[in-house]
Amino acid sequence: MPMEPFFVAHGIEASYGRLQVLWGVDLELREGESAVLLGSNGAGKTTLLKALLGLRPVLQGEILLAGQHMEHLRTDLRVQRGIHYMTELGVFPNLSVDENLQVGGLGLHHHDLRQRIGNLYETFPDLGRLHGAPAASLSGGQRKMLGVAKAIVVPPRLLLMDEPSAGLSPRYVSEVVATLRGLHEDGITMLIAEQNVKFLEIADRAYVLDGGRISFAGSVVELEANDAVRQAYFGVGGH
Ligand code: ADP
Repeated sequence: MPMEPFFVAHGIEASYGRLQVLWGVDLELREGESAVLLGSNGAGKTTLLKALLGLRPVLQGEILLAGQHMEHLRTDLRVQRGIHYMTELGVFPNLSVDENLQVGGLGLHHHDLRQRIGNLYETFPDLGRLHGAPAASLSGGQRKMLGVAKAIVVPPRLLLMDEPSAGLSPRYVSEVVATLRGLHEDGITMLIAEQNVKFLEIADRAYVLDGGRISFAGSVVELEANDAVRQAYFGVGGH
């Protein structure tokens, strides 16, 4: 029998009141894979990530992590089981870099927390240098790094990221992509919701969400060969 993928979302449907915005969404990831979820504004990317984490109820569908059903669990229990979520809003501007990381590591014993934060300062030297500075004083790129670092203080089994490029200039986008490449090389399983095709550089597979439905699922090579996707995301027509 083929091995069950590490993470599976099957037939996810979600709505805001009577407005249904996700329709039978299927996704899967093998352990250590990274997937990019492309979709224009309003396609349903944020809603999908929230549904996977339990921040939006699912009307229908199954969510499995390492074979265990998640769809009926509260958000805090999904986080405990290793589904972490990175958004820009996850960084507290008035807290220092170090305090933000301590919040990310709530529940760890003090010694483990300090050790883990020390390791993160090696991975993110900018954050180490600025450990006492308020998050509000960081550059846009550094704040994203802090958001990523905060989401992985406790190592995740699956890291969900909502538009890590939002609001960043191209130089900072490249820095964030490089950071995520490092996490990918460390074997972290990731789902990155993005409009920026640069994140495909680090993707093992790609999904396109269109009007709340998956309109493409496949490898990045297949995605780049798909004419409709090329027109929508790469600004180029057919062959
Ligand atoms: P994306 O992240 O791809 O931009 P969203 O998941 O934010 O898309 O939005 C998907 C759809 O759900 C859009 O039509 C949007 O208008 C609608 N929507 C998002 N948030 C709300 C909300 N809080 N109340 C009602 N409708 C919402």
